[in-house]
Amino acid sequence: MDDMKASERMQIPRQDMPEQNPKARARNFEEVPLGLTDELAKLEAQRCLKCVNPQCITGCPVQVPIQEFIKLIEDGDVIGAARKIKEVNALPAVCGRVCPQEVQCEGKCILGKKGKPVAIGNLERYCADYERNQEIQYVECPSTTGKKVAVIGSGPSGLTVARDLIALGYRVEIFEAFHRPGGVLVYGIPEFRLPKRIVQAEIDFLKSQGVIIHLDSVIGQIRTVKELLDEDGFSAVYLGVGAGLPWFLNVPGENLKGVFSANEYLTRTNLMRAYKFPEYDTPILFGNRVTVVGGGNVAMDAARTAMRLGAKSVNIVYRRSEEELPARRAEVHHAKQEGIIFNLLCNPTRLEGDEKGWVQRMQCIKMKLGEPDESGRRSPIPIEGSEFYIPTDLVVVSIGTSANPLIPSTLQPDLQLNKNGYIVTDEFGRTSIPRVYAGGDIVTGSATVISAMGAGRKAAQAIHEDITGGACVEEE
Ligand code: FAD
Ligand code: SF4
Repeated sequence: MDDMKASERMQIPRQDMPEQNPKARARNFEEVPLGLTDELAKLEAQRCLKCVNPQCITGCPVQVPIQEFIKLIEDGDVIGAARKIKEVNALPAVCGRVCPQEVQCEGKCILGKKGKPVAIGNLERYCADYERNQEIQYVECPSTTGKKVAVIGSGPSGLTVARDLIALGYRVEIFEAFHRPGGVLVYGIPEFRLPKRIVQAEIDFLKSQGVIIHLDSVIGQIRTVKELLDEDGFSAVYLGVGAGLPWFLNVPGENLKGVFSANEYLTRTNLMRAYKFPEYDTPILFGNRVTVVGGGNVAMDAARTAMRLGAKSVNIVYRRSEEELPARRAEVHHAKQEGIIFNLLCNPTRLEGDEKGWVQRMQCIKMKLGEPDESGRRSPIPIEGSEFYIPTDLVVVSIGTSANPLIPSTLQPDLQLNKNGYIVTDEFGRTSIPRVYAGGDIVTGSATVISAMGAGRKAAQAIHEDITGGACVEEE
């Protein structure tokens, strides 16, 4: 294929990934995009111009060698392509599905300047899925350093640290509070966007390499970080505990029955399989008229979940305009296709219920956009006298989260936190306490899977350097 001219490559249109029909999928939990076929993947790979100075890689927080893996697909070596990605990315099947490629690698692809960028995310997903289906045997990584590291939290940042350190010859033990590993990948992002078997396969891969995972293990309760370091023989501890503490609206009526945080609503449905009740013993409220407050990925996930749980109508209430919606474009598009109603430029002011305390309707006020605030987005301003009602019997609040405070609270006053309660680190995840590292949402606030993974990579490198350089040696 090397003899193919750039002009010929540019003639090939971007290959769309087949998807489930919107009407059918709005009522089931099966994955929405179905994956590229071998033919579509090869055609899409042929679109890559193999640029001399590729910009795509500069948009990737973990610097996946994009051009090289796409070339391997084109040459028919899909396993080689998957391995190439895995040199720097432990979770390609996950990233291929949920990364905001449109603002990262694809956002920088030269083809995007005049047309559609190469579908890098879809190709990444294709390679990872192809490799998973081959049932390849992996070998355990030998522990060559004689040192062990504790990783707290099994979200994408913790899994990345574990993967990098085991490859460097450390014994790695992950401590996870929940009964399943994966963090937000299993308790937050719904099955129809990221099937749990895919996350499990990535975790099985780590386990096959020798990573030990302790479930139902809340650090700060069963053991403290100090005990892990001083009594249990760990040379370093990595904190990848996320930012899962939900914010609420602080409006009258928020304590009515039928008002959920998105966190609880999605955890019940995803992690605890409430949508399979009574096969799974988790109750959930099935609202007829559901209202979700917020405009991020979490809000889209909650709204689309409500639809799949059988709601007759699902409204999203968001205080800014469509342009400012923080959710990925693809998720907004999918939500619209599935019949979710967007109420933009409005905000809840109160919730009202019946005499038994069940929520009945949401009072909202219309908003207009003013000057940009510190986030750079235009700030919403209420329009006096513009209140209106949305009838609703279930409300899901999805306006953001903050740091999980348990571990930071057990490390006071030594652990430096910023004004919002997130852990302060240097560029490589070193905290103010020697031998304690942190990364992912607990440092940045709610961000993305790939940025959490990028932080994990850097911290693994710092831990390795500090241990081999003597900065992580246990005190006598
Ligand atoms: P987490 O994934 O939050 O994992 C932290 C883990 O630590 C959890 O498993 C938790 O149980 C565990 N833990 C916490 N405290 C303790 C303790 N004391 N002891 C032991 N374990 C503990 N990002 C994208 O890039 N694309 C998307 O499409 C996207 N969609 C999202 C949808 C939803 C519903 C949500 C909630 C988030 C979404 N995100 C998305 C954001 C992304 O998932 C997070 O940025 C990412 O998961 C952060 O990774 P993390 O490893 O820092 O933390
Ligand atoms: Fe290929 Fe686009 Fe990267 Fe160039 S910028 S190497 S065309 S993916």
